[in-house]
Amino acid sequence: MRKKALIKVSGTVQGVGFRPFVYRTAGRFGIKGYVKNLGDAGVEILAEGTSGHLEEFIKAIRKDPPVNARINSLTVEWQGSVERTDGFHILPSGGTGSGGTIPPDYGICSLCAKEASSVGERRYRYPLTSCTDCGPRYTILEEIPLDRKNTSYAKFPPCSECSKEYRDPADRRFHAQTIACPRCGPKYFLLDVKGRLVPSPVETAIERLRAGKIVAIKGAGGIHLSCMASDDDAVAEMRRRRGREQKPFAVMSDLEDLKKYAHVSGAEKTLLTSKERPIVVLRKKNSARCLSDLVAPGLDSVGVMLPYTALHQMIFSVIDSPLVMTSANRHAEPMIIGNDEIIRQKAADCYLLHDLEIKNRCDDSVLKIVNKNPVFIRRSRGFVPSPVDLKNPDKNTVLALGAEENDTFCLLKGGNAFQSQHIGNTVNLSTMGFMEEAIERSLKIIAARPDVIACDLHPDFNTGRLAAEFGKRFDAQVIKVQHHHAHLLSLSGEHNLDEMVGICCDGVGYGLDGKAWGGEVFSLKGGLIQRVGHLKEQPMPGGDLAARYPARIVAGMLYDSYEQSELREILEKLSFRHGKKEIVVVLRQLEKGVNVQPSTSAGRVFDAVSALLGICHERTYEGEPALKLEAAGNGGRDLGFPVKIRDGVVDTSALLKAVAESVKKFKTRDIAYSFEKTFATGLAQVAVEEAEREDIKVVGVSGGVAYNGVFVGTVAGHVKERGLNFVQNRSVPCGDGGISYGQAAYVSAL
Ligand SMILES: [Zn+2]
Ligand SMILES: [Zn+2]
Ligand SMILES: [Zn+2]
Repeated sequence: MRKKALIKVSGTVQGVGFRPFVYRTAGRFGIKGYVKNLGDAGVEILAEGTSGHLEEFIKAIRKDPPVNARINSLTVEWQGSVERTDGFHILPSGGTGSGGTIPPDYGICSLCAKEASSVGERRYRYPLTSCTDCGPRYTILEEIPLDRKNTSYAKFPPCSECSKEYRDPADRRFHAQTIACPRCGPKYFLLDVKGRLVPSPVETAIERLRAGKIVAIKGAGGIHLSCMASDDDAVAEMRRRRGREQKPFAVMSDLEDLKKYAHVSGAEKTLLTSKERPIVVLRKKNSARCLSDLVAPGLDSVGVMLPYTALHQMIFSVIDSPLVMTSANRHAEPMIIGNDEIIRQKAADCYLLHDLEIKNRCDDSVLKIVNKNPVFIRRSRGFVPSPVDLKNPDKNTVLALGAEENDTFCLLKGGNAFQSQHIGNTVNLSTMGFMEEAIERSLKIIAARPDVIACDLHPDFNTGRLAAEFGKRFDAQVIKVQHHHAHLLSLSGEHNLDEMVGICCDGVGYGLDGKAWGGEVFSLKGGLIQRVGHLKEQPMPGGDLAARYPARIVAGMLYDSYEQSELREILEKLSFRHGKKEIVVVLRQLEKGVNVQPSTSAGRVFDAVSALLGICHERTYEGEPALKLEAAGNGGRDLGFPVKIRDGVVDTSALLKAVAESVKKFKTRDIAYSFEKTFATGLAQVAVEEAEREDIKVVGVSGGVAYNGVFVGTVAGHVKERGLNFVQNRSVPCGDGGISYGQAAYVSAL
């Protein structure tokens, strides 16, 4: 018997070769009808055939969709009348269904990689080779549905050969929206410092790189600045031009070369070679000649990614050293995407650009294996805009704006939390401009109108001001969420927990009492969050100055532990910008309590230890003293410092005193490691005791300190030893990039 069915599919089904797949599957089962993209990013199929064939057809669609597709729902509506349909067609887009999501950009697939490197192929050495399985999607999208006319490719009408492939069901680019070739597609060109065209763009750019020059290279989500990572002079020049003294640069190289300078585990290799092609933070090998020490000074790790476009492959077919690949923007500004803008900035010696417009800026994603789990330091290219699951019983549409540094925003619609790409430091007005633009684009692509706006509790954040504006515009309620509550809820949201104890440790967040929090233990139970413990409140002499020059924190933390003369002796061995004079001023500030801000920050404790051990005396980028401390403690042994806790408060002064007393007796490596271990043990004890008292089964960690392997491993060990479950962030960053998700989770949970 012949039947007819209207099938609607939601999920990630546009821009992933889904219609061609349905077309081919229909052919296999002799199904007549059509498939089309819907205006809300879903897909509709009308299928007519014998009931047996229809069942098989639907089963095949559910079972083996294309690699990058994700089916969230597939509904079948059987229809009464069965008039004979003629053939099976891919129809123009239109109509709506139950919605869909847009795929992220994926790195070049193996077939395209082979094609672009095979002499005689049409796309031999075509730097922008892509297909239905790979290439840009989100970064070129203006609006849904994901049809060529709604992307930057609209400007490049396909040539006759590309059109033929596009229409040929047997071709792997059948209905590929980014179909292009050297004849019709976007092109790379090279400009010199004066903006003049240089012939043989890719070859010349490679020559310039090898000659130690800095080359701007436009990729999918933005523009990188690149130079040879083996060349000290080139890297030093890059640092000078970027005004970046110490902050590590990411590098790109192929897998074989990378083994010369970094250790790669199986799990790390899987991440590196995944279609998302993120930057992965790897352990450096000692004294590898192909990697200048200036790439990641003072660190035991380096961020590495593999080539992810045909252009990158062309470069690494010639160059066998890693290349620095850093986003080409000034400090705290958004990544540059415009050709004119990069040339105006004059940071490079030449510019390898293309004429395909980047609609949505997307930095490289960064992951690190912590406690055997991959965790996001930054979730951007390759992952955004794929949603993260989040329970949403009230079905409110929530727009959460995050905090301040490393910011992201999050749009919660239904059970999908659309976490934005990395936005950056929102102190900066151009970053705020980018954020507003990205929000507008997302509201359009996701077809959302917020009922609730969430932001940080801090009274002075730009994101708070923006929340008030959006609140007015959408007549939406504005909810302010305490910073560490958001970290906690990012954990419970991701792991779908109603109850847990969470340790939330970071640099600083505005506390419920108006003070600077940053080393907190909370319980979440019965819809209530309680602060059940924290680090000892410490005086920060000079406020922001203490964050920059951590020797000041040492003075504050040890002030009550020593006689003045003894303390002075300890401090005089450290690095104060103005020497002894500054020490006198700092001690006077502490004595009188003038310009001294109290804080429970975990980050500042790491900073103090780093300064006390002579590892880092100035913080030139976020987390620098703590990262260098972690590097210094690598492979150390535990000296067994005592843990002092009183009423849930971990005594960090006693811990710092133990460090101070060990300086002359033990190796820096052992002291650094023992500090991390003891610090973690103190907080773990507070958390585990609370969990046992309240019969809560799960303990977790979040916040920027949860990138520290010793910290997370130690807490996890204590938690598991007591028969409890341990959780850490997996789907969103544990740093402030995960705050917006946590805020959305807060709104939906409480
Ligand atoms: Zn491909
Ligand atoms: Zn073409
Ligand atoms: Zn934070």
